[in-house]
Amino acid sequence: MLLGNPLVDMEVAGSNNVSLIGGLYGCTRYWVGYKCSIEPSYTNKNKAHKGIDLKASVGTDVYSMFDGEVIKAVSGIGCDKYKALGNKILIKSTHAEHQKGTGSIWIYYAHLTDVDVKVGDKIEQGDKIGTTGKTGNACKVINKHLHIQIYKDSYKDSSRVSPDTYITTKFDKNGNKKDD
Ligand SMILES: [Zn+2]
Repeated sequence: MLLGNPLVDMEVAGSNNVSLIGGLYGCTRYWVGYKCSIEPSYTNKNKAHKGIDLKASVGTDVYSMFDGEVIKAVSGIGCDKYKALGNKILIKSTHAEHQKGTGSIWIYYAHLTDVDVKVGDKIEQGDKIGTTGKTGNACKVINKHLHIQIYKDSYKDSSRVSPDTYITTKFDKNGNKKDD
C-alpha cells in the first residue's frame, strides 16, 4: 500500500448508471444541464457526490491515509438508506502537513464491514483500521466500494472538499488512474 492511499489497489468505482465519472467527487452523477447542489437531500436528484468511491470487494483491508485521532467509529449498521455512510470511521488528521497553516482535515471511511478502531484511538498513517463493505445506502450498488469523504478546516457540511488532493494516487476527470 502506498502511504496516503486507503487501499492497496486504487481504482475509481463507477456508479450504477454513469460509469466511472459517477464515482468522483462533486456534480458527477446527473444529466448535464441539471442544477447540482452540494447539500444533501433524498428527494433532490441533483445532489452532488460528497466523496470519492474507490473500488473494493467486500472485506478488503482499509488503511488510514494519515496520522490522526479517531473521532467517530460506528458499527452495527446493515442495509439502511437513511444511514447513508453505514459503518464508518471519522479520523481527524494530526499529520504534520495538516497542522501547520494548511488546516486540519477530517476523513470519513464509509460503508465498512469491520471497524477495528474506537473513539480516541491514536492512528498512524498506514495503520489498518477496518475492512470495506456495503453498509448504509451502498448495499444494493453494483460496484462495491470504499467511500472517502473529507472536510478541511472544520467539520461541517460546507467544509467538504474533493478528496483528490489528499489521496496519493491521482485520477483524471474521467476517473481513470493517471500514471506518473
Ligand atoms: Zn460515495
